[in-house]
Amino acid sequence: MKIIIDQIQDNKPFSLHVEEKVESFPVLSGMQSAGEVTFTGPIGSDITIEREYDHLRAVGRVVAPLSLACSRCLARYDDVIVSSFTIIFRKGTALDAVEEDEIELNEQDLISSSYIGNEIDFTHEIEEQVTMEIPLKPLCSENCKGLCPVCGTDLNKASCDCSRGDFSLKFSALKDFKVSR
Ligand SMILES: [Zn+2]
Ligand SMILES: [Zn+2]
Repeated sequence: MKIIIDQIQDNKPFSLHVEEKVESFPVLSGMQSAGEVTFTGPIGSDITIEREYDHLRAVGRVVAPLSLACSRCLARYDDVIVSSFTIIFRKGTALDAVEEDEIELNEQDLISSSYIGNEIDFTHEIEEQVTMEIPLKPLCSENCKGLCPVCGTDLNKASCDCSRGDFSLKFSALKDFKVSR
């Protein structure tokens, strides 16, 4: 998604809402073809950009519906990633773009970037927001009981008679095992 800078007037924020197919995002569609995630709908972005002093301030929100495989029970479940960002854009030179043009200031969650010419392309930023929020160990639920390591039964749906030995003993001793449901 691109914003043409001339469209942004002084003293007037410019807002845009777009829904784009996953295929518009090389990194996201790459993850999808690798089977890491399945996006279940278009990636939605709301971006408001305004002129401020010598720079542009963009405030955005990205919404990405997807389906993930639970790392404990392997079941697929649906989730929605929502991520917000603020980026300060300064007009850059071609040289800046070749060099590193993104400095992340973690304490403020503010990203500083530069643009060249008359447009800002948010594609990379949107992808980054989504990939950052995809859990490394997805869980269908905090209470997911996972699969029995012996027989593979999905313990969320059924129980089994396997002796899980030390593991379950230690586990129940350590944890006050209440299932809140
Ligand atoms: Zn699970
Ligand atoms: Zn079992």
